[in-house]
Amino acid sequence: MAFGWIDEQAAQRRRAGLVRTLRPRPADSPLLDLASNDYLGLARHPEVVEGAARAARTWGGGATGSRLVTGTTELHAELERELAGFCGFEAALVFSSGYAANLAAVTALAPHGSLIVSDAGNHASLIDGCRLARGSTQVVAHAEPDAVRKALQTHEGPAVAVSDTVFSVDGDAAPLAALAEACREHGAGLVVDDAHGLGVLGAGGRGAPHAAGLAGADDVVVTVTLSKSLGSQGGAVLGPARVIDHLVNAARTFIFDTGLAPAAAGAALGALRLLRREPERAARARAVAAELHARLTAAGLEAVRPDAAVVSVRAPSPEGAVTWAADCRAAGLAVGCFRPPSVPDGISRLRLTARADLSEGQIERAVQVIGETRP
Ligand code: PMP
Repeated sequence: MAFGWIDEQAAQRRRAGLVRTLRPRPADSPLLDLASNDYLGLARHPEVVEGAARAARTWGGGATGSRLVTGTTELHAELERELAGFCGFEAALVFSSGYAANLAAVTALAPHGSLIVSDAGNHASLIDGCRLARGSTQVVAHAEPDAVRKALQTHEGPAVAVSDTVFSVDGDAAPLAALAEACREHGAGLVVDDAHGLGVLGAGGRGAPHAAGLAGADDVVVTVTLSKSLGSQGGAVLGPARVIDHLVNAARTFIFDTGLAPAAAGAALGALRLLRREPERAARARAVAAELHARLTAAGLEAVRPDAAVVSVRAPSPEGAVTWAADCRAAGLAVGCFRPPSVPDGISRLRLTARADLSEGQIERAVQVIGETRP
């Protein structure tokens, strides 16, 4: 029978208690949300929503075509200029998602005969970029600039190292300055995914590369998502103008994809302007993360010290993580639950988002629920 093998896989997942299901979220959910990636609490901010609405009224419900045909509006150009300016890079290119931006950056910068050195903890979209690229990939130990250096040593030809700036599971930061140095010693480029850094790290949320002194570097390329701190949807690549021009001509997820929806561009632009006016939002997200970590630790829970706004709490087992998250939900708290196959075996986590708009009372309540439901 066609697809018969799927049933066996489904049965295995059921036996292991690891079935994933979709749970539509009502607009007026009563849950305290520590599960979303809305780090600055901007997704429903009136200025962000109005940015989306105005863009849809002006430009319509969709971009109407690929970027190289009809899908580049003046709004896309404006967003690219402002995003590049904010993060300190020469140019930017927006994509329909951060996933597509990562596929673009890695595939277009790793031609046949090149080497990609990829951190073992990288996000799935960077991993998929490596899989799609013509170059060959060497996976190296997590957050080890010396491992990157060693991998680059023996290679002749173009090379690029790729890394998340903030790793999505544990919320730990990559040693960006040291990585850039290792790359420079070997004339290699550095591509970093700042999905969890933009809006949280760096002065006023300008991102991890900015904080590491890499903004505007001619050998550094940054990818971001518009869907976390900026409360919208979409992604972007930032870097030297010649790299961005290359992507326009060579990146398949740019060329063959419909342009970012105008409403998403308008929302992201609204959030970016808000962040410029209210730079303290970034520091507040970091402070909430530090406080969550301190309170969890004081309650005897094993939490990873956060470098940005992701706070990761160790769970005893994949099944334990699932039950723990479900019990939190039953007590009114939404938390993320990471377990295999999303993460390697042996690493199951509750993943908490330290949103800038959480009150002291909400932080206290969240820690109390997590402590009381601990398996
Ligand atoms: N990179 C990282 C590190 C992410 O966590 C995510 C989102 N889960 C992405 C890329 C993909 O971004 P998007 O959701 O905009 O496709």
